Amino acid sequence: MSHSAATPHSSVTVRFAPSPTGYLHIGNARPALFNWLFALRHGGSFILRLDDTDRERSREDYADAILRDIDWLGIKPHRFERQSLRTAAYDAAVLRLKQAGRLYACYETADELDRRRKRQMARGLPPIYDRAGLRLSDAEKAALEAEGRKPHWRFKLDETAGHVTWDDLVRGHESVDIGSLSDPVLVREDGSYLYTLPSVVDDVDMGVTHVIRGDDHVTNTGVQIQIFQALSDFVPVFGHHNTLTTASGEGLSKRTGALSLGSLAEAGYEPMAVASLAVLIGTSAPVEAVPDLVTLAETVDLSMVSKSPARFDPADLDGLNAKLLHATGFAAVADRLGAMGVGGGEAFWNIARANIVKLADARGWWQVVTGPLVEMAPADAGDAPLLAAAIELLPEEPFDGETWKRWTDAIKAATGRKGRALFMPLRLALTGLDHGPELAALLPLIGRRNTMDRLGERLRSAAAAE
Ligand code: GLU
Repeated sequence: MSHSAATPHSSVTVRFAPSPTGYLHIGNARPALFNWLFALRHGGSFILRLDDTDRERSREDYADAILRDIDWLGIKPHRFERQSLRTAAYDAAVLRLKQAGRLYACYETADELDRRRKRQMARGLPPIYDRAGLRLSDAEKAALEAEGRKPHWRFKLDETAGHVTWDDLVRGHESVDIGSLSDPVLVREDGSYLYTLPSVVDDVDMGVTHVIRGDDHVTNTGVQIQIFQALSDFVPVFGHHNTLTTASGEGLSKRTGALSLGSLAEAGYEPMAVASLAVLIGTSAPVEAVPDLVTLAETVDLSMVSKSPARFDPADLDGLNAKLLHATGFAAVADRLGAMGVGGGEAFWNIARANIVKLADARGWWQVVTGPLVEMAPADAGDAPLLAAAIELLPEEPFDGETWKRWTDAIKAATGRKGRALFMPLRLALTGLDHGPELAALLPLIGRRNTMDRLGERLRSAAAAE
């Protein structure tokens, strides 16, 4: 049975619906962002919904962390909902399904179901629930309940529909063979709801027009389309993106600690580096550092998402983070640099940014400017004459962008040194490092006095090495 993708709603409404049973990781950022980008593209609204019907596994600290992580990514939900506050709506839907003969009580224990499945498989049959519950008489049900059994409730799939099909925003024509599925349990013995029904009830009540989620939900969608049809005359459009796997092909679980959004933030990654990787990997768009979510929304859409798993390498985050910072203007980071005690204003940022992977690395370069120098390879005795000439010829202040060239030209003329033999000893003396920002730009920030002190110290160390 097929349904059309037409929506009665004038605008787009999407939702990201995590269960607060763990911390969000980079793989969960993918559906969150695909939904947000879709809303941005279409001027739609975005609902953040906590699927927290599992009372045992849901935790408030996870819920808080989800809100924090979503905000950190730059997603600003228009509406916030939690399923634990909407039980009355689900109870009403249960009543309607029962009245329509689509929800029936079952009394098997998990063990009994397991044994039944094993018997079916041993006989070469598919392990599908045999609908025994549907055939129980009222007297049999009463007897089971007298034994102390409580029912769980299954949705009666309409297997006469054959395949449920839809036009998927990512996967194109998609279909699920209803006859190959067991009637899904919607309500547990203790009366609590599994995710399947509340999700549909919410999507209907909240006017969700597009359900964008991972391809691990494709089969659910076949089932949920039948629940939509049983409860409403509206079925949303679906899009199932591929899910992130590690390079070795493993899925990411909520327990993948180091890749949780919280730990990536703590490790100093920029949200847009994480967002760029989380979205662009496994699409036909190149994986590059995109500066903001609006640009990302213009760069990629669901039709560019591949059907095969998106294998990603967390190490790619470093390169993306570095590229992002290299292209970041001072104004965007001024406050954060200030809070880290990094001075030097725009002039310093413009030379430091090409030499950092994470923003906090700017601190190290700022210390190179202000001193004291932390790292220092031993000086080479043969450099003593060069260092002496450098001290002798260091121009008076003010220093500007030309000072370095004037100075090193003079040293070259006096010592005959050139190229690396000229520049490396000076770089080591001035910064303690054999790499780093352009010295022409760094010299005015280091200033004459620091430069003089460092050259003097280096000369003493070169002399001591003789
Ligand atoms: N709570 C579900 C999950 O985290 C939501 C899936 C959906 O978007 O419908 O997988």
